[in-house]
Amino acid sequence: MTDPSETRLTLNLDALAANYRALVTAASGAEVAPAVKADGYGLGAAIVADRLWAEGARGFYVARLSEGVALRQSLGDRAAAIHVLDGVTPGSAPTLEAARLTPVLNSLPQVEAWNSQARGGRLTATLHVDTGMNRLGLRLEEVRVLLGAMDRLKHVEIIQVMSHLACANEPDHPLNLKQLERFQEATALVPDARRSLANSAGIFLGPDYAFDQVRPGVSLYGGGPRDVPDARISAVATLEAPILQTRNVPRGETIGYGATFTATDNTRVAILAAGYADGIPRAAYPRGAVWFDGARRPMLGRVSMDLVAVDVTGCDAARPGAMMQIIGPDLPVDDAAAAAGTTAYELLTRITPRAGRFIV
Ligand SMILES: *Cc1c(COP(=O)(O)O)cnc(C)c1O
Repeated sequence: MTDPSETRLTLNLDALAANYRALVTAASGAEVAPAVKADGYGLGAAIVADRLWAEGARGFYVARLSEGVALRQSLGDRAAAIHVLDGVTPGSAPTLEAARLTPVLNSLPQVEAWNSQARGGRLTATLHVDTGMNRLGLRLEEVRVLLGAMDRLKHVEIIQVMSHLACANEPDHPLNLKQLERFQEATALVPDARRSLANSAGIFLGPDYAFDQVRPGVSLYGGGPRDVPDARISAVATLEAPILQTRNVPRGETIGYGATFTATDNTRVAILAAGYADGIPRAAYPRGAVWFDGARRPMLGRVSMDLVAVDVTGCDAARPGAMMQIIGPDLPVDDAAAAAGTTAYELLTRITPRAGRFIV
């Protein structure tokens, strides 16, 4: 059964492919290894990875072990390198090995755990060096300790050294250069390993940041590298919902919970079949809008769980059943996110399963 009033999330796979190619072009010859964590930023990791594989991607990044296992299963016998950012968490080593996942080793204990998992054989890994984010990864001093005690690495082959930029979306931030320098210092200690530093925003910092491999996420999915729409990046996700009802709200009356919006004039209102249980942030009011019939139309009053009111004064096309765009080609995900005080990352990953999924 299709539900005529369900919120629809439509994925444009050709736009995804176009973004991948734009990132390949921007990456100065480096391999582009997509981040497909959090179910492909909410859009469906299996579908996204399948298309990106077809476009030439051979390495992928996930956060959790479970995401890696699911991706390995969906890719079947395709020989993709799947990097797990959480690394060797307690008890995960046998599953990582069985699913042929490459852990990102984030600490000396993780290095040790992977070294023992090798049981005298040989396993490969990516080494995460922290260059200033202070989240995960070995500090430079720890890398030196590690390389000075090679028996800790006897059974682990470090095929790649990676780090992550904290401020790449702010090109002039001094931390970018500092991290670049520390990364160069760290990778010089492991000269045979490949090097990976840049996320989406990092790619656009220029060729110095590209190294051997880049790891874009958000810009594959339509978010600009600087948290604002970017002409090189196309919309991939369209979130839309139908109008359930239209009504006239007389001047002086209020709309919705808390009566936070008062009509200063007689107002034509469309009630949209979408709310925060579909993925419209409650914080979208008072700055949020939808796109309908060629214009941005403001949300009026609080977003509720299943509904939100939209100003359609003077718009004859607003009738029950007509679809309004919440994010998409006419309402960039970065703009919709900014109106709700958040980012494209959070907006995309919070679209809920209640929204039906469609592919074009
Ligand atoms: C999520 C993530 C990425 C992708 O970042 P975007 O900003 O979405 O391009 C790359 N590297 C690491 C370590 C990540 O956690």
